[in-house]
Amino acid sequence: QWIYLNGHFVTKEDAKVSVYDHGFLYGDGIFEGIRVYSGNVYRMEEHMDRLYQSGKSILLQIPHTQEELTGLVLETVARNNIKDAYIRLVISRGIGDLGLDPYNCKAPSVVIIVEPLAIFPKHLYETGIEIVTVATRRNRPDVLSPMVKSLNYLNNVLVRIEAHLANVNEALMLNDQGYVAEGSADNVFIVKKGCIYTPPGYIGALEGITRSAIIEIAKELGYEVKEQAFTRHDVYVADEVFLTGTAAEVIAVIKVDGRTIGEGVPGETTKKLLKVFRKKVVEDGVP
Ligand code: PLP
Repeated sequence: QWIYLNGHFVTKEDAKVSVYDHGFLYGDGIFEGIRVYSGNVYRMEEHMDRLYQSGKSILLQIPHTQEELTGLVLETVARNNIKDAYIRLVISRGIGDLGLDPYNCKAPSVVIIVEPLAIFPKHLYETGIEIVTVATRRNRPDVLSPMVKSLNYLNNVLVRIEAHLANVNEALMLNDQGYVAEGSADNVFIVKKGCIYTPPGYIGALEGITRSAIIEIAKELGYEVKEQAFTRHDVYVADEVFLTGTAAEVIAVIKVDGRTIGEGVPGETTKKLLKVFRKKVVEDGVP
C-alpha cells in the first residue's frame, strides 16, 4: 500500500506526521472521503470542490491547484492498483509550535490514503440496521458550518460511541432545536406516503454528495423530494427510513429508538434507490 505524504509515496509504516502538526494538536485541518468503484472515482469534482470550499472557509490554503491535487489522488489510486476503494484525503494546517497560532505553520500537510473499506457488513444492506437518537447535538451552523469537513469530528465520534453503547450500528444527531440533523457520517432520509424527505442544510446537516445523488435519482424515478425539517416523531411514523453517505452508500433503517419502521424490513423505495445508485456509481465515475 502506497500513501501520498507531502510530495512522496511512502509505505504505511513510514506514513507518519509530526506531533507538532496542528491537525494533531488542534484538529486544525480538513478532509474528504471519496469512493472508487470498479476503478472509477465517484463524483471526484464535487468532492474536490467541497474540499477547496472547506479550505476557503477556514482560511487554509491548499498548496496545490485543484487540478494538481486531483492528479495526485488519481496517481495514488493507480499506484495502489485497487479497483474498489475508499480514498481519504487530509489537509492539515501543518507543522507549527505548541501555540494555537496557525500563522506559525509554514506549510499544510497533504495526505492521501487509498484502501478497501466496508463500514457496514454486507448482510446489513439486505436486512437494514437499527439506530438510536443520541444526546450529542450537531453544532450550530452559525458556529461552524456543517459544510466544512474539518478534522474536528468529536461530535461525530461521540455519536458513534453512543451508538456502540446502545449496541446498534449508527445513530442520529438532533440539532440544538431538536430537529433531526444527520448521522455520524451520513445523511438521513424518510419516506412517507410516497414522498421523500431529508433535512435541509440549515438544520445542521452536511449536504452530502451521496445525498445529492439520491435526490437526483429519486426525482428521475418520479418521486417527490422535499428538503424539510422533521422531528423524531416523523422518523418513528415514517414508512421507510434510510441513510446515505460515501462510506455507508444507501442503507435501510428498520428500527429507531425501539420503534419498528414500516414492516421492519428494507422498504421498496429504499431498495429501488440502492439498486439504481449501485448501477450509477460505476457509470458516473472518472476512470
Ligand atoms: N454527514 C457527515 C457529518 C459526514 O461526514 C458525511 C460524510 O462525508 C456525510 C454526512 C455524507 O456525505 P457524503 O455523501 O458526501 O459522503
